[in-house]
Amino acid sequence: MLKRCAKCGLPETYETIEFDDRQVCNICRQKDYKDSEIDWDARKRLLGSLIEEYRGKHDYDCLIPFSGGKDSTYTLNYLVREYRVKPLVIQFNHGFMRSNLNLNNERTFKKLGVDVLSFTPNWKLVKRLMKEALIRKGDFCWHCHTGIFAYPMHVAIKYNVPLIFWGEPSSEYTAYYDYRDNEIEQVDETRFNRFVNLGITAQDMEGMIKHDFELDPRDLTPYTYPKIRDLKKIGFRSVCLGSYIPWDVRRNVDEIKRDLGWQGDRVENMPFEYWPYEKIECYMQGVRDYIKWLKRGYSRVTQMAALDIRNERMTRDKADELVNRYEGRRPPSLDLFLEYLEIDEKEFNRIVEQTVIPPHRPDFIRIVPGDKTDDFGQWFREKA
Ligand SMILES: [Zn+2]
Repeated sequence: MLKRCAKCGLPETYETIEFDDRQVCNICRQKDYKDSEIDWDARKRLLGSLIEEYRGKHDYDCLIPFSGGKDSTYTLNYLVREYRVKPLVIQFNHGFMRSNLNLNNERTFKKLGVDVLSFTPNWKLVKRLMKEALIRKGDFCWHCHTGIFAYPMHVAIKYNVPLIFWGEPSSEYTAYYDYRDNEIEQVDETRFNRFVNLGITAQDMEGMIKHDFELDPRDLTPYTYPKIRDLKKIGFRSVCLGSYIPWDVRRNVDEIKRDLGWQGDRVENMPFEYWPYEKIECYMQGVRDYIKWLKRGYSRVTQMAALDIRNERMTRDKADELVNRYEGRRPPSLDLFLEYLEIDEKEFNRIVEQTVIPPHRPDFIRIVPGDKTDDFGQWFREKA
């Protein structure tokens, strides 16, 4: 049995977790701090002056990296409606965008009237990067996480748009950064190296894959954080909106539904009735959650329930019931994933087993198949 937070139920295998002497975790304590100690009015005034400092000085007032998930949609909607900014929206296509997401995005862009740039990297390279990151870290999302954070910074330099707005601060979910000390979390190279890139730089990656992948070193530029002197030259500020206004996911979701007609979606092994808005932007999400469950003994249901418990919107009993019912089932998307990476399930299990976080021990024997989502048939197949 894993040791768990007495309050929210997060287990000891959760990243950055620590427990106090009452067995309450540091993420719960951070939440208390966010509610009681931060002067959100003062923070909002800071936001106003930050926007005014950059308004009208370049081709765009700010750059907004955009996935179409609830957080970036809320960020874009809020900044356009509340501050009337003229943003450049930048989309990094990770390769697994779902049809509901594309419809949401079209609606959002048209309703708000914004300029949008989309970038889709080389799929063959994406697959190779997924495989390498899975083998090295048991986490295949390296290409997506590094691309989403690094690529918009290149665009900021190219278009000379120094102010960059991200959505939710990571302090909401982990303790890599703290709400304390009035610290405004900078989304910069330090953060990139601290937890975005899993400790693997694009240069490392080049060395790891070039023996069997025909690689032009420029292929990895989208995954490389730009040179800090180039960012300094444009006077960059890269911040999270959630450092300036209190981030309340459920309230944010209500707002984008009302303003933009934004719609949630089913995600493999997630109870739709409870979290219809969570991680709807990628059809490999089911595999990601499944790997987490094998590696760490919990997945997104635990994580989402913990957030709702902290916000007093769910009981521990209800959370336990949902966790038992939904977590750890084999997602149908795993078949596609194995096809992309050209490995079989035995090899997949063997790779994941090597990255398990003790004291958790995965049980590969009693695995139950999960349900397909409605759009499963639309997801890309190599062997069509
Ligand atoms: Zn906790």
